[in-house]
Amino acid sequence: MKRFEEKVVIVTGAGSGLGQAATLQLAEEGAKLVLVDLNEAGLKETEEKVAAIAPQAEVLLIAANVADEDAVKGFVDATVDKFGKIDGFFNNAGIEGKQNLTEDFGIDEFQKVVSINLNGVFYGMKYVLKVMKEQGSGSIVNTASVGGIRGVGNQSGYAASKHGVVGLTRNSAIEYGQFGVSIKAIAPGAIMTPMVEGSLRQIDGDNWEEVGKEFVKPNPMRRFGKPEEVGYLVAFLLSNQADFINGVVVPIDGGQSYKY
Ligand code: NAD
Repeated sequence: MKRFEEKVVIVTGAGSGLGQAATLQLAEEGAKLVLVDLNEAGLKETEEKVAAIAPQAEVLLIAANVADEDAVKGFVDATVDKFGKIDGFFNNAGIEGKQNLTEDFGIDEFQKVVSINLNGVFYGMKYVLKVMKEQGSGSIVNTASVGGIRGVGNQSGYAASKHGVVGLTRNSAIEYGQFGVSIKAIAPGAIMTPMVEGSLRQIDGDNWEEVGKEFVKPNPMRRFGKPEEVGYLVAFLLSNQADFINGVVVPIDGGQSYKY
């Protein structure tokens, strides 16, 4: 399947985990890619993986902080300058933050998590939607989380920001459907990426793999999700096959968020 031939897609958080997995699926399907991340080494790694599976793929790497509005405007402008349009946007970069009870959750930590996970997603939508509205087409996938649709605990900043991402998704989806633009969110459960490894290490540093085994026992599928499983979902949602899917939040969590 080559759903992305002649399509231009921006991916944030492309240097690791879910962003990297989605990038590889999009590259395999012919996309021209603008890959954004704070971590330049991660971007290079993703570029090498793309070159291995899709040597013809056109790739633009941009080191940028999504919490910096000017930097976001900069990567959107750079995309239009190089490729002339934006067909898809995986608005994905995010962090978990330090786990703590609400009363102990530092104000600085709260603001840091919200500035990346929520402000960053808003800036991305603000500048990409302007371009997509003018084109009369486009699709955005925002990365929320199960922590954006359920209470997880010890994650004030993460919960506030990811519930906020769901709100932004629904609000803008209602506004931009009339311009041929669809906006959806995904709500991943625990997918084994460096972020989840870091989360398990916060619970028990030396013993994190054992903690992980216990962690997935209540999951109906008894396992972590795989980054490529999220990549397949994101590629579908960004493709023209999903043009009439708008404003939804799609859980990808083995069914855990539906369990009583
Ligand atoms: P990850 O840590 O493997 O990758 C995140 C990437 O985002 C990293 O490359 C990092 O450098 C980049 N990044 C972080 N802050 C940035 C910033 N300010 N500007 C630009 N880039 C920045 O994590 P992941 O698991 O791939 O997470 C990706 C997204 O998925 C996040 O929004 C996360 O909250 C969400 N998510 C992940 C899971 C999971 O289980 N892995 C579950 C639910 C939601």
